[in-house]
Amino acid sequence: MQIKPNRLDRGFLQYQDEFEQKALEVLRSGWYVLGKEVEAFEQEFAAYTGARYCVGLASGLDALWLAFRILGIGAGDEVIVQANTYIASVMGITINGATPVFVEPDAFYNLDADRIEEKITDRTKAILVVHLYGQASNMQKITELCKKYDLRLVEDCAQSHGACFDGKMTGTFGEIGCFSFYPSKNLGGFGDGGAIVTDDPKIAADMKMYRNYGSEKRYYNKVVGANSRLDELQAGLLRVRLSHMEELTAERRKLAERYSKQIRNGSLILPTVRERADSVWHQYVIRCEERQRLIEYLNGREIGTIIHYPIPPHLSEAYRYLGHKPGSYPVTEHYADTVLSIPMYNGMTDEEQGIVIEALNRFA
Ligand SMILES: *Cc1c(COP(=O)(O)O)cnc(C)c1O
Repeated sequence: MQIKPNRLDRGFLQYQDEFEQKALEVLRSGWYVLGKEVEAFEQEFAAYTGARYCVGLASGLDALWLAFRILGIGAGDEVIVQANTYIASVMGITINGATPVFVEPDAFYNLDADRIEEKITDRTKAILVVHLYGQASNMQKITELCKKYDLRLVEDCAQSHGACFDGKMTGTFGEIGCFSFYPSKNLGGFGDGGAIVTDDPKIAADMKMYRNYGSEKRYYNKVVGANSRLDELQAGLLRVRLSHMEELTAERRKLAERYSKQIRNGSLILPTVRERADSVWHQYVIRCEERQRLIEYLNGREIGTIIHYPIPPHLSEAYRYLGHKPGSYPVTEHYADTVLSIPMYNGMTDEEQGIVIEALNRFA
């Protein structure tokens, strides 16, 4: 039996009737951009996270760069971010001309809060915390540092819809929480989508202006904005998925729990969860010193895997201009060389998961 690392079709089949009904409803409505579905989704998603406002956008990357744009962070400013993130986090900073200052991750693949302080300079304006793989970061320490040094806090929650630290949802600790609804995310649409959440009415109003060419009133443009609108079809379909978010997250937790209980192999390092934090298991990421051999072994058994991510941003061609060299961030680089995401998706069957577990346990 072939087992893929992800199965978006399964996620569709779980609520097929509701998705199809909603799609038809939107198609027949005659209204496709910035309408009642987006408004309803924004209210429902804000309520879900516990934030006061949500503003729908076209992607997670837009959420990130518009967040820094609105906070006025650009050329000459530094933003602290973990080195082992998806490159979009870093692009959100550099699109505005600001400089990313990388910090090594901790044992949970998140920003190592104990290594932030040494990176703070008089140019540091913000911390971008990424709740990578679905696990909440150490928000106690990070929020304390933001207070102490008067830094803005932006959260990249593209992988952490519903994850909490001390029972408070990721995305609500800083001034702006940035979300992606790319199809493979925990709350995924059927195309691109994103949003920010915030408690600040000014930020919410600014974001609404920026997403629509910088206009509050049609054809009166106050700033150079973007075309970054969440469309009605995506918003409607996201509302369907959001209404099932609790069961979808519970399903992932159950899958992760079984992996953690039943994978027994001394050559594999399994993920752990920080005290006071929880994970919504966007990925189940293991580590193996002999990763290439493991990948080939699993491929031989028709089990697919993905590496999140093989090249850390500081070593990517896009950021060669920053001048980092291999060896600059050894923890990050070691993770990039050894991490492997094993199959994990809503709608995964017991049988499929059993096959993955057995294969991993027999890897010698
Ligand atoms: C997916 C992702 C993004 C970007 O979201 P898009 O909607 O694809 O633009 C940003 N940060 C992280 C951590 C992501 O996983």
